[in-house]
Amino acid sequence: MVLYRDHDEKLDLLKAGKLSLLENVKEFLKRIDANKDINAFNFVFEKDALESAEIIQEKIKSGKFGKLAGMVIAIKDVLSIQNKPLTCSSKILENFHSVYTATAVQKLINEDAVIIGKTSCDEFAMGSSNENSAFGPVKNPIDKTRVPGGSSGGSAAALAANLCDASIGTDTGGSIRQPAAFTGLIGLKPTYGRVSRFGLTAYASSFDSIGPFAKNSSDLPKIMDVLSGQDLNDSTSISSSSIIDEDISKIKIGVPKEFFAAGLDTEIKSRIDQIISILEKNFEIVEIELPNTKYSIAAYYILTTAEASSNLSRYDGVRYGHRSKSNINLQDLYESSRSEGFGDEVKRRIMLGTYVLSAGYYDAYYRKAQKVRRIIKNDFEKAFDKVDLILSPTTPTTAFKIGEKTDDPLSMYLNDIYTTPANLVGIPAISIPIGNDSNNLPIGLQFMANIFEESKLIAVSKFIENNLVKK
Ligand code: GLN
Repeated sequence: MVLYRDHDEKLDLLKAGKLSLLENVKEFLKRIDANKDINAFNFVFEKDALESAEIIQEKIKSGKFGKLAGMVIAIKDVLSIQNKPLTCSSKILENFHSVYTATAVQKLINEDAVIIGKTSCDEFAMGSSNENSAFGPVKNPIDKTRVPGGSSGGSAAALAANLCDASIGTDTGGSIRQPAAFTGLIGLKPTYGRVSRFGLTAYASSFDSIGPFAKNSSDLPKIMDVLSGQDLNDSTSISSSSIIDEDISKIKIGVPKEFFAAGLDTEIKSRIDQIISILEKNFEIVEIELPNTKYSIAAYYILTTAEASSNLSRYDGVRYGHRSKSNINLQDLYESSRSEGFGDEVKRRIMLGTYVLSAGYYDAYYRKAQKVRRIIKNDFEKAFDKVDLILSPTTPTTAFKIGEKTDDPLSMYLNDIYTTPANLVGIPAISIPIGNDSNNLPIGLQFMANIFEESKLIAVSKFIENNLVKK
């Protein structure tokens, strides 16, 4: 049903009057309805999407329109949109409506994108499978018995099932790249600070990044350029130069041996080896060392749970969100509202985070993990003195079965083994589809770059799209 390859082509069709945006949005709405079983959306904005389609169609006719005119985008339900529900897939925010719009979403709207709805995710973006949503698990459209990955699983599933042109997710430890890998999409986690977090519900504030899922490498830089920029409402945001067409002939790629050790699925390993041998003809490829990345998962789960325990203290049943009927006194109101409102994984993380921050354990866990974060950063700084990009798998396995890991949080956490380092260090990273395994499940290849070098990630993604993976 999608008649265009990318947004450039779509815009040409719209400009030439060969495609009606209204019909196109209607078609997406029909498909969303027909694919309800995937459970990708928490909310569909049927009326608003049709209204903006008409307005944008007129703008295109008049010749004055935004950079993303007519691009139909789905937004992860952790980002605020004024007067729309914001649940973070949690019961505690079931009836909450946002009072303002997140900067990232506003920028998409300003450039004439059509916002079609809000997608499911793991509760408060905590998870790797999208099974932690209070509104039920999301299914992987490629194999509905499997997870789409998480936590931005709804955004990935929506795009993989052709329910939108692109989607927005958030990545604290891999939540854009891992679901992109599981559903055969490109997913980009930008440099920390490149995209304003204003209006994003915080999970771990020093890790959280907002970024796009796309089906092709030409939509990706367009969306990134719109999302990027300094915002006075987020003091960690920073202005950055736009994505440029990078000359790839001089790009040097490092392969860290630590990322290809035990635990990596053999089919993923051999597919990546194949890709490396093709890349070797065009790029200089060298082996590098990232010796301290083995501590990434431990440091990540100490620091993010610590930040989460603090960030989530605001859900107290008083200011907003679910309020328990059991409220004999204030303490009881807090306890019962939070006990009823939060799901198991969120509770587990609040407890872990409170523990690592507690007076007796702060030095042993939190402070130690901060030091480890710095040491891992040093590893990457050394590596980027030698190479432009670092290549690794995105995930240790392809998409697993729904329910397969729900009783074993540790094995679920190990899914993030290759993705968490980029968030600990704040660097950008991309997952690119490089074919399927013997079960026909997509395999993702990750590249990491130095801060603000998204252009190099997009350049290598274009190269792979054009030269290696013919669909
Ligand atoms: N899977 C990781 C976690 O559970 C990453 C989540 C994310 O990036 N939001 O924390």
